[in-house]
Amino acid sequence: MKMDLEQLRKTAAEVVARDDVKYLVGWKQGTYGYRVAPSFVEDAAGAAELIFSPLCTANLATYLTLVEELHIPRGQEPDTRKVAVMVKGCDSRAVAQLFVEKGVKKEEVIVIGCPCPGVVDPNLLAEKYPETEEQLEVKWNGEGFLLVRGGEEIEIARDEVLAEKCRLCRYPNPVYSDIMLGEPVEEWEPGEDHGVEEIDGQDVDGRAEYWTEQFDKCVRCYSCRNVCPLCYCQDCVLDRLNPTWVNRAVNFSENTAFNIARAFHLAGRCIECGECERVCPANIPLGKINRKLAREVRDKYGFEPGVDPDGEPFQASFKPDDPEEFIL
Ligand code: SF4
Ligand code: SF4
Ligand code: SF4
Repeated sequence: MKMDLEQLRKTAAEVVARDDVKYLVGWKQGTYGYRVAPSFVEDAAGAAELIFSPLCTANLATYLTLVEELHIPRGQEPDTRKVAVMVKGCDSRAVAQLFVEKGVKKEEVIVIGCPCPGVVDPNLLAEKYPETEEQLEVKWNGEGFLLVRGGEEIEIARDEVLAEKCRLCRYPNPVYSDIMLGEPVEEWEPGEDHGVEEIDGQDVDGRAEYWTEQFDKCVRCYSCRNVCPLCYCQDCVLDRLNPTWVNRAVNFSENTAFNIARAFHLAGRCIECGECERVCPANIPLGKINRKLAREVRDKYGFEPGVDPDGEPFQASFKPDDPEEFIL
C-alpha cells in the first residue's frame, strides 16, 4: 500500500483550503470497535482526522446527492463551491455513472482517488475477531491484513475476511479522479461469482423458493435505497402514494415488488459497490440480484456502467449493430 496517511491529510488540507471548495467527504475513525464514520472536512483540523484503511468500506459517493437542499433565502446566492470526495475504485464508478446521468456535474466535484487493495467484510471480521469498546485498527499488511487490538498485532490472511465485492473486483484503481493519492495497486484476477452461479443453476421453482425466503425477511427499512449512490431520484416510485405503485404493507408480495423494482431501476446503472447488501439489517443477499443483472447487461449488450465518465447511459443508448439475439 503506497499511499500514506501524511500524504492523504496534507492533500485534504490543501483541497479544503481552496476558495472554490465547500467541504471534503472522507473517512475517519468511528467511536468504537471496527466502526469508521464519514467525515465532512472543512479545515486542516478535520483533514488531520482522515484515514484510509481496510475498514473504509462505505461508498462516500452517495453523499454527492444525499444532501439536504435547503431553500435559499431571498437575496442570497446559492453556494456553488465544489465538494471533494474520496473514492476507492468501486466508488469512483459511482461518481462516473453520476456524471453520465448528469446527476452530478464534473465541475461540481473534486474526485480524490484512493487505489484500493481490498477492504474487509466488517461482519465477517467481527465474527472471527470480536469487536471491543476500544477503537480497533486494521491495516493492509502485504497480501493480508493486520489487526491491532489491545496492543496486540494479529496477522489475518486476506481470504479470511476479504469482502465478497473485493474478491470479485475488476476496478480496484479509481477509473476517474482529479487527484490520485499514491500508486495504483496491482490488479488481481476476479474470482468466480459462486453466489450468482448457484442461483442461476436452479430451476424456476428453486429460484422462486430462494427469493421468497429472502424477500420475506425484508422489513422495508429503505436502507438499501438510501445508501445507494445511484438511488437518488427526488421523486422515488417506491414512495409514491398517488398512484401507489408499491404498497407500504410489509409482506412478501409488496416486499418483492419493492426489491424487484429497485433492482430493475439499477439495471445497467449499478456499479456493484455492495453497499445495499452491507447495510441490510435482514442480511438479504441483494448483491446477488444486482450482480446477476449487471452480468446480463454485460453479456447481452457489452455494457458496463461507471467506467466511462463521458459515456452514454445504458438505457438511453443504442447500437445499430446490436445482434438482439434475445428477441424471439
Ligand atoms: S470492490 Fe474493489 S475498489 Fe471496491 S473496495 Fe473492493 S477492492 Fe476496493
Ligand atoms: S435494507 Fe434490507 S430490509 Fe431494508 S428495505 Fe432493503 S432489502 Fe429490505
Ligand atoms: S444497487 Fe447496491 S451495489 Fe449497486 S450501486 Fe446501489 S448500493 Fe451499490
